[in-house]
Amino acid sequence: MKNGKAKHVLVAGGAGFLGSHLCDALLAQGDHVVCVDNLQTGHARNLRHLENEPRFTFIEADVIERLPARALPKQLDRVFNLACAASPVQYQADPEHTMLTSVMGTRNLLRLAEAHGGRFLLASTSEIYGDPEVHPQVETYWGNVNSTGPRACYDEGKRAAEALAFDFDRAHRAEVRVARIFNTYGPRMRADDGRVVSNVITQALEGADITVYGDGSQTRSFCYAHDLVEGLMRLMAHEGEQPGAVNLGNPNELTVAELVERVLGMVDTRSTVVHQPLPVDDPRRRRPDISRARALLGWQPRTTLVAGLQSTIAWFSELMHQPAASSY
Ligand code: NAD
Ligand code: UDP
Repeated sequence: MKNGKAKHVLVAGGAGFLGSHLCDALLAQGDHVVCVDNLQTGHARNLRHLENEPRFTFIEADVIERLPARALPKQLDRVFNLACAASPVQYQADPEHTMLTSVMGTRNLLRLAEAHGGRFLLASTSEIYGDPEVHPQVETYWGNVNSTGPRACYDEGKRAAEALAFDFDRAHRAEVRVARIFNTYGPRMRADDGRVVSNVITQALEGADITVYGDGSQTRSFCYAHDLVEGLMRLMAHEGEQPGAVNLGNPNELTVAELVERVLGMVDTRSTVVHQPLPVDDPRRRRPDISRARALLGWQPRTTLVAGLQSTIAWFSELMHQPAASSY
């Protein structure tokens, strides 16, 4: 046990890309972990290595519904809510479910934390800043979100979830932490999730056209998964006064065209770039101001883009060469 007393932790969305890395990190520090996931965008493959881990339990359930009390442990010290499809393609596939996952799911999990006297962390998103007019984005910026557009089910759902979480905290019903996560990538992303990193890498590995939406001048700032998970754990462990929402991400901003260039420089491929229309309400630029996380948590990303891309490319490459590649 590296971090004092072992805790009993629930991770909603723990079969997903980030959630599964979080489960691994919590187990590595000696905690007991219950993962709740409906496997909508997550995958049992992400947790297979934990099959014989006595401190790990998996419950297949939808957080929109009340969780089956019988299946849950008596003690819960921490509740992480990462449950929610995160890529635009996936969260727009069933917008009603996405909105309810954020609102009803967060409410159910907040109530669970309240009932157990546990601390709750919401995985919120940079999307709550919408197409930002303030750059880089600071936590005090209230955002520029289109409440009627196709991204609203996600953006407004997360904004409502933040509101609920802070109301629980103000009423002393549960101690709350809110992380605003910026674009994160790494092993265990789904090849078919439609995000730019997974698309570009799999397209390059397959020798397929590289799809750049718009002219590729829009920017994002990409954080490696392990750095991000470290930030989530530090924020959850943070003691003292309510710190407010905290941006977690890598301030290293680049255009989509630059990202493509980097990947093409790292994969031996015959792929070439094709341009496709920019999705509706696609933010023009995004970069986190992480001063608050630095000061409060002593946290900042450590993995360079090259190192992060190398391990992500290696992972996708391995996945594509597995016999059951059809299910990746
Ligand atoms: P992911 O899709 O891999 O993981 C989400 C997990 O939640 C999946 O395992 C999915 O099956 C599960 N899930 C979805 N709806 C559910 C429901 N109603 N009940 C139970 N389980 C449900 O995505 P991710 O990239 O790992 O994102 C994890 C969290 O972090 C999400 O809440 C997302 O909004 C947030 N986030 C991620 C990023 C990023 O770049 N990866 C950026 C900002 C915010
Ligand atoms: N994008 C792209 N090609 C793709 C997928 C995405 O050019 O195949 C662009 C997308 O339009 C956006 C950026 O890459 O400007 C990041 O998209 P992603 O879906 O990864 O994340 P988000 O839009 O949620 O930041």
